[in-house]
Amino acid sequence: MGSSYVILYFLSSVFFILGIKMLSSPVTARRGNLISFSGMAIAIITTLTYVKYDLNSIIFIISGISLGGIIGLVFARKVQMTSMPQMVAIFNGLGGLASSLIAFSEIIKVSNSLEFNIVSISILISVLIGSVTFSGSITGFLKLQSLITGKPILIPLRNYLNLLLLIFIIGLMVTSFFYSGNTLFFYILISACLVLGILIVLPIGGADMPVVVALLNSYSGIVAAFTGFIFSNIALIISGSLIGASGLILTRIMTKAMNRSLANVILGGFGATSESIAADTSNKNYKSGSSDDIASLLEFSENIIIVPGYGLAVAQAQHSLKELLDILTNQDKKVIFAIHPVAGRMPGHMNVLLAEANIDYELLLDLDQVNEKFSQTDVSIIIGANDVVNPAAKLDKNSPIYGMPILDVEKSRSIVVIKRSMNVGFAGLDNDIFYNEKTLMFFGDAKDSIDSLTKSFKELN
Ligand code: NAP
Repeated sequence: MGSSYVILYFLSSVFFILGIKMLSSPVTARRGNLISFSGMAIAIITTLTYVKYDLNSIIFIISGISLGGIIGLVFARKVQMTSMPQMVAIFNGLGGLASSLIAFSEIIKVSNSLEFNIVSISILISVLIGSVTFSGSITGFLKLQSLITGKPILIPLRNYLNLLLLIFIIGLMVTSFFYSGNTLFFYILISACLVLGILIVLPIGGADMPVVVALLNSYSGIVAAFTGFIFSNIALIISGSLIGASGLILTRIMTKAMNRSLANVILGGFGATSESIAADTSNKNYKSGSSDDIASLLEFSENIIIVPGYGLAVAQAQHSLKELLDILTNQDKKVIFAIHPVAGRMPGHMNVLLAEANIDYELLLDLDQVNEKFSQTDVSIIIGANDVVNPAAKLDKNSPIYGMPILDVEKSRSIVVIKRSMNVGFAGLDNDIFYNEKTLMFFGDAKDSIDSLTKSFKELN
C-alpha cells in the first residue's frame, strides 16, 4: 500500500471522527452525517483504486454496491421511528456477517491451513464475533418485530450451556492451528458461533433489546477492526474501533439511565412483564378529567412542562403536540419539554420524534437541566410516559427501578397524565404519581387526547 492510500485513509478517519462529534448536537447533526458519509466515500474509492480487478470482480463489486445501496435507501426511507431498533439490528447483523464471510474467505484462500500469527488470530476472532453478531442481531430483530415471542426464552442452565459452547469454540480455534486443511472443521466452527449468538440473545426480553442492539452494534465495530488487521487497512481499523467504542458508551449510558447492570440485561429475565398488565388499583383513588377540565387548567397556567414518553411515539402524536404547543405559546405560555435519557424505546427517541414535528430543539431540556424547573411549574403534562416519572425510583428501595434517575414532576403545582388506562409501562410497575392529589388523569390515545385538548383550548380563547 503506497503512502497516498495511508493519507487518504487517514483523511477518511478524520472525517468519521468529526462527523461523530457533530452528531452530538441537533444543530450540527445533519452536517455531521454528511461529513461521515464523505469519509466513507473516500475510504471506499481509495480501496477500489488499489485492488487489482478482472471483469468478473468489477461486475460483482458494482452489483453489490448498487443492490445494497438501493435496499438500504428504500428501508431507511420507509422505516417508522418506532421500528428503528429493528433496522439497526439488521444493519449490525449484516455488518457482522460481512466481516465473518470475509474472514472465512481468507481461510479458504489458504486452503484451510492457518499458521499461528496475528493475521490468523484476527481471522478466527472475526469469524467468532462476526457470526455471533449476525445470529444475535437476527434473533433480536425477530423478537423486536414479534416474529418470535418477545418474552425471555429461558432455557434451563443456559449460562452454563453458553459457557460450555464458548469453551468448545475457543478449543476449535486453538486446534485449527495444528489440524489444518479440513473445510468441515471450519464449518463446525462457524455453526457453533452462530448457535452461540442465538443462545445469548434468546433469554433477553424484547423490550430490553435496544440495549442489546447497542451492544451488538459495538461488536460489529470490533469485528470490523479485526478485519482491518487481516488486510492492514487502517480506515477499517479506525472506523471499526470508533463504532466499537461508541456502541459501548451508548450501552453504558442506557444501562445507567435504566439503573441496570449490563450483566443484568445480558443474563435476561427482565422485561418479561407484558405491557398490557393492569396495575392493582383496587385500594387507590385517582381523579380523571375531560379535555375541557384540562384546557381550563392550562388557561390559568403560565409555566408548562411537557413530559413525552413511549406512548407519544406509539400514538404518533408528535404533530398534534406541535399544534398544541403553537396555540399555547401564542397565548404567551412558557412551554418546555423534559427529556429523560431512556424515555421511549431507543436512545434519543423523544428528540427524534419531536424534531420530526419541527419542535424547536432549544425547548428540549434534559434531566439535569429540567429537574430544578419543576418547582416553578404550574402544570406538568405527562404524555404516554410512566417509568421515567415513577417516584418509586427514589423512594422504594425494593423497586426494580430504585436508583434510576427520574423526572421530578411531583414538584410541579399540578400534574396531568395522558394515557389510555391505568396499565403499567415497560418496567411493569404501578406509579404513585397517578394517585397524587395534584394529578388529573386524562384517559385516551395520546393523539386523540391532544387533539381534543387543543380543540377545547381553542374554544376557550
Ligand atoms: P413506559 O414506562 O413504557 O410507559 C409508557 C406508557 O405509555 C404506558 O404506561 C402506556 O399506558 C402508555 N401508552 C402506550 N400507548 C399509548 C398511546 N397510544 N396513547 C397514550 N399512552 C400510551 O415509557 P417511558 O416512561 O417512556 O419509559 C421508557 C421505559 O422503557 C423505561 O423503563 C426504560 O428503561 C425502557 N427502555 C428504554 C429504552 C431507550 O433507549 N429509550 C430502551 C429500552 C428500554 P397505557 O397502556 O395505559 O396507555
